[in-house]
Amino acid sequence: MIRVSSRQELRDSLTRLKKPEARVGFVPTMGYLHEGHASLIRLARQTSDVVVVSIFVNPKQFGPNEDLDRYPRDLERDMQLCAQEGVDLLFTPQPEDVYPPGFRTQVSVSGLTEPLCGASRPGHFTGVTTVVARLFGLVRPDRAFFGQKDFQQWRVIAQMVEDLALPVEVVRGPIVRETDGLALSSRNTYLSAEDRKRSLALSRALAQAMRMVLAGERSAEAVLAAAQAELANVDVEYLELRDADTLQPVAKLERPAVMAIAAKVGKTRLIDNALLASDSPDRNLPRLLEGASL
Ligand code: AMP
Repeated sequence: MIRVSSRQELRDSLTRLKKPEARVGFVPTMGYLHEGHASLIRLARQTSDVVVVSIFVNPKQFGPNEDLDRYPRDLERDMQLCAQEGVDLLFTPQPEDVYPPGFRTQVSVSGLTEPLCGASRPGHFTGVTTVVARLFGLVRPDRAFFGQKDFQQWRVIAQMVEDLALPVEVVRGPIVRETDGLALSSRNTYLSAEDRKRSLALSRALAQAMRMVLAGERSAEAVLAAAQAELANVDVEYLELRDADTLQPVAKLERPAVMAIAAKVGKTRLIDNALLASDSPDRNLPRLLEGASL
């Protein structure tokens, strides 16, 4: 595995690695890698000739009172995981490599970025789409891999790629969970032992909603009420059922919909989601249900 930090080194290494016809798979991350990231790297490895991972804690997607300064980092461990998973090129730029002096462009997607996380994190998605567009320009991948864990982020990036006709295929990987149901996140490291237990409310709420939908319930109100009941011990920022494509609220579950939750557990903000009434049910469904039925 080659590790590069500057744009020039990245270009030189890609030129060396990229045989004619080789397909480049790209997994952008903010580091402190876990099994969720590893699953995306494996997907990339299976379907690409050259696998590039970036680790960049993007200042543009953090609000002024968010956790940019204390975001967890462990480059040594991340490098080991990447090497084990067969990554060819690890790109670890500094902010000035990504945003050189004179950088003036913002990429923002309208509509899809307004609800859910967009409502409480103004500017967040513009930070995300700007860095992803920039990284796509630097890496020039054929395929890029994003996790369902950040469903709205995936949806917004897919829209950006479509609207700007960017020559990259966006692939979505399933949510990887702990055995008890908690979705893996770099931020889980902030949780105290007590908060870790309370954090299970999110996956329990989703599992309860899934059970109802599997049993035939189609009323959004009923499904939301059942999920809400599981969330009594956490500070819910939003619990919503939205069309998986438009992210508009739904009253009846007729088309694929996403149930999305953001909640504060202690000081830690967690998000989770599940696809409901979907033709391709969540591959983690059995595991999620297992965790929730404890
Ligand atoms: P992050 O490092 O948090 O910016 O995440 C980098 C990528 O990994 C994003 O596409 C996330 O959606 C994805 N990811 C994070 N957590 C998980 C998870 N538990 N399962 C699957 N993908 C994940």
